[in-house]
Amino acid sequence: EVDDVAGRLTFDDVTYRYTPGGPAVLDAVSFDVPAGTSVGIVGRTGSGKSTLVELIPRLMDPTEGTVRVDGRDLREIPLHTLRAAIGYVPQEVFLFSDTVGNNIAFGVPDSEAAEITEAAREADLLANVEDFPKGFETRVGERGITLSGGQKQRTAIARALIRRAPILLFDDALSAVDTRTEATILENLRAQFGQRTVVVVSHRVSAVQDADQILVLDEGRVAERGSHAEL
Ligand code: ATP
Repeated sequence: EVDDVAGRLTFDDVTYRYTPGGPAVLDAVSFDVPAGTSVGIVGRTGSGKSTLVELIPRLMDPTEGTVRVDGRDLREIPLHTLRAAIGYVPQEVFLFSDTVGNNIAFGVPDSEAAEITEAAREADLLANVEDFPKGFETRVGERGITLSGGQKQRTAIARALIRRAPILLFDDALSAVDTRTEATILENLRAQFGQRTVVVVSHRVSAVQDADQILVLDEGRVAERGSHAEL
């Protein structure tokens, strides 16, 4: 079950092709992220960062090689157990036309108000919500207020954080927030480092500079690996 997942992540020689015989978007990628540590993934657009992240919740499976959690091949872990162990903020955020609170609690429908508030605080969204006409009861989307790109992203971050999952995946999840907000959110996350395995994909070095290790992807290969100081 989820509580048994420590969160170590391992890629063993992972190759991924979107089409048989097509280009290897990931080409023999190997790395290991010990449980409770963080990894930053940077690289040019199209270098394979999103593809790498999407293999972790098994949005697809590797063409060759193995992705593991706690040493177990993901294909041996029941999908619901795997996904319950992951908080995932995709590059394209999807919000429901529902209240802000329900959008945050999506996936954890029995969340208490205090948990929703705490997740919003950690995602640096709380001050915004307090300014909304009905707070967490404010509807977003067609029949409600229109959130900015950054507010949408932070709602999705709160949605991932409220799961209290051992693995957190941020796929360019801070692209629409300014660097100060980014720093605040990362600082809040850092308070939980040690307990969670965190994967942060970013175009900005600032988002990954404090990660325990940084992978630089180039055309599907790990071109460089090390701490910010080492690279
Ligand atoms: P970005 O920084 O722009 O988000 P990325 O590093 O995340 O890029 P990916 O989105 O993983 O890169 O894409 C890697 C390569 O795979 C690109 O060449 C892209 O065109 C290709 N690709 C991505 N999704 C698909 C798909 N569904 N079908 C075919 N090719 C795809």
